[in-house]
Amino acid sequence: MADDLVPHWHRGSAWTGAAGGRTADVFDPATGAVARQVPLATTDEVDEVVAAAVAAASEWRSSSLTKRAKTMFAFRELIVRHTDDIAALITAEHGKVLDDARGEVARGLEVVEFACGIPHLLKGSHSESVSTGTDSHSVRQPVGVAAGITPFNFPAMVPLWMFPIAIACGNAFVLKPSERDPSASVRLAELFTEAGLPDGVLSVLHGDREAVDALLTHPSVGAISFVGSTPIARHVFETAASAGKRVQALGGAKNHMVVLADADLDAAADGAVSAGYGSAGERCMAISVVVAADAIADELVAKIAERTRTLRVGAGTESGSDLGPLITAAHRDRVAGYVEAGVASGAELVVDGRDPEVTGEGFFLGPCLFDRVDPSMSIYTDEIFGPVLCVVRTPSLADAVSLINANPYGNGVALFTRDGAAARWFEAEVEVGMVGINVPIPVPMAFYSFGGWGKSLFGDTHVHGPEGVNFYTRGKVVTTRWGVPAELGTAPSSLDLHFPTNR
Ligand code: NAD
Repeated sequence: MADDLVPHWHRGSAWTGAAGGRTADVFDPATGAVARQVPLATTDEVDEVVAAAVAAASEWRSSSLTKRAKTMFAFRELIVRHTDDIAALITAEHGKVLDDARGEVARGLEVVEFACGIPHLLKGSHSESVSTGTDSHSVRQPVGVAAGITPFNFPAMVPLWMFPIAIACGNAFVLKPSERDPSASVRLAELFTEAGLPDGVLSVLHGDREAVDALLTHPSVGAISFVGSTPIARHVFETAASAGKRVQALGGAKNHMVVLADADLDAAADGAVSAGYGSAGERCMAISVVVAADAIADELVAKIAERTRTLRVGAGTESGSDLGPLITAAHRDRVAGYVEAGVASGAELVVDGRDPEVTGEGFFLGPCLFDRVDPSMSIYTDEIFGPVLCVVRTPSLADAVSLINANPYGNGVALFTRDGAAARWFEAEVEVGMVGINVPIPVPMAFYSFGGWGKSLFGDTHVHGPEGVNFYTRGKVVTTRWGVPAELGTAPSSLDLHFPTNR
């Protein structure tokens, strides 16, 4: 089994790259076994794939909008039909429970559905008679070749945030998925090819820093979309921007959920548990800090603890599992190290998940709940990216917002309250890109754009939705003057666009 090699996707088919290259292990996180190998592309292989993308892009950009839309509709149908097998690939390599994996495919599918509307999304505008006999119109044209570099935690959804829109806009796209769970991307590319996408328009190239850096500096790549941790997002942004590319680089997160004294505490506790521990906390929109109003903090912590203790840890394929394993043994140990540090720094470990009831060597860690966390502790300051939920107590809404605004990350945030005035003030004052009011994970729908503030985003464009269309296209404004038809007389002369005399 460990001899299996996950192929790249190049020129419309599976490709193993040059023989003898470097490879990495892909694990089954539920058993701890190496399941297969993934090739790590060299700079030469990146060149080869980008050259194919350049050739494909020049034809694809002239394909009609209706053809592009029809290909998207066909791709949509294939994803719907194959949701279960894409979900099974996600669970096999990432470890999340099958329901979460299916949910991930469904959220990615929404972006494909948005991209089906590309004939409408690429409509320009027209102004008649901007000066005498002179009109202006605007168009949006593809950038050429775009590349995407994606994280392990959503191996289908995050790639789907990017390539359907880039391709619908007329670009070719090179995807460098996470080398930890690479198979779902290859399956998506296979389905897109089956849907009628011409060879070379979508490539999937596996790799690590060598492949990423080759893409970031490649002269034929015009745009870079990145999603991953903050240090790598910064590296991607700085490298690609200084190579003259447009770049959007989404980074890590530390998301807060504020619960005011008037909130529905059962709904808040349900939200904290599902948003804190779902997908074992390996979500960029996971709630990792509950900021509880002093007056209800004891009651809320008790409700969260009661629910947390009922969660079942197990393989993602086992029915009844609420959370699966973490992605690697090293990551599980790192998260467990934060739990040790939290205890050592004096936070109260209300639920201790360090020794979950599981069999085998999988990378499991049970849900952990800390109360009385101080913002100076590493369990508060650092992105843990595991099933660890911290409660910080607060005397007021204003204090809660000050705490959140002082945090360097600004991805998602939630407020639970029944007070509309408090909600309105919170929405206006909080410095975070995605806000939920009584909604714990406020991931925008595909027809809005997704992105955080602060260290959660480098660049100025969010992904998918209208900002995605703008990111993958360049604007052009055309000013035209045709005069009057010859049979009607002489065309007006000496019109001065800068100083029109007769408008
Ligand atoms: P990561 O930063 O380690 O890896 C992301 C991608 O970068 C992968 O494709 C990886 O191969 C590549 N990469 C890793 N090291 C590199 C290097 N030195 N040079 C160039 N490329 C490199 O992230 P991860 O562990 O796969 O994913 C988890 C992180 O992603 C978390 O921090 C999470 O918050 C973040 N994330 C953010 C969002 C968001 O929307 N803001 C969404 C999902 C995940």
